[in-house]
Amino acid sequence: MRYYILFGPPGAGKGTHAGAIASKYNLKHISTGELLRAEIAAGSELGIQAKELIAAGSLVPDEVVEGMIENAFNTIKGVDGFLLDGFPRTLPQAEALDAILAKRGEKVDGVISIMIPDSLVYERIAGRAKIEGRADDASPEVIAHRIETYHAQTEPLKEYYRNAGKYHEVNGYPGTIEQNRDRVLALVDTIW
Ligand code: ATP
Ligand code: MG
Repeated sequence: MRYYILFGPPGAGKGTHAGAIASKYNLKHISTGELLRAEIAAGSELGIQAKELIAAGSLVPDEVVEGMIENAFNTIKGVDGFLLDGFPRTLPQAEALDAILAKRGEKVDGVISIMIPDSLVYERIAGRAKIEGRADDASPEVIAHRIETYHAQTEPLKEYYRNAGKYHEVNGYPGTIEQNRDRVLALVDTIW
């Protein structure tokens, strides 16, 4: 099995391009954000715990997302690998992922990092808020907190994966969604 990570700030286009990568390489796309939103919609215990943290633009506890990921690895069959979107987002999560994979005799194959500047994060999320109605897209303060959280907790992963020789970056702007998708797919081709 192969394990790829889609990395980048909120609004970089991870969710937008994940489908094209996953279908081209027969990977299962797993978005921890989408899984958490499904838990909230279902009103589960986990969803109730996560709801306010997410609405505030904070991260949910590492153990919660690590459990969701391990569960997905254990239950999803019939694919050649996984495309992780929104996980890992902290150094402890990255270390936990390495440990989860090591137990299975596996490893992270590559990190596909889509980069956009902070100014574009605001622009894209404001546009998306009107379409998708996500609580955490609604206010500039919450978006600002997510950007802060990204820089403080998630960005250090660049160094972690660079040191492992697994970090590959592409610009998620400018251009149309199709042009960006083609750039991302071209990058994935080079590391497949
Ligand atoms: P995108 O714009 O690609 O959707 P995002 O950061 O705006 O990226 P999601 O990845 O959908 O949004 O995540 C939404 C929220 O879910 C995060 O702000 C956080 O509260 C929670 N979350 C998702 N993944 C994790 C994770 N790996 N660790 C902790 N919290 C997470
Ligand atoms: Mg997403």
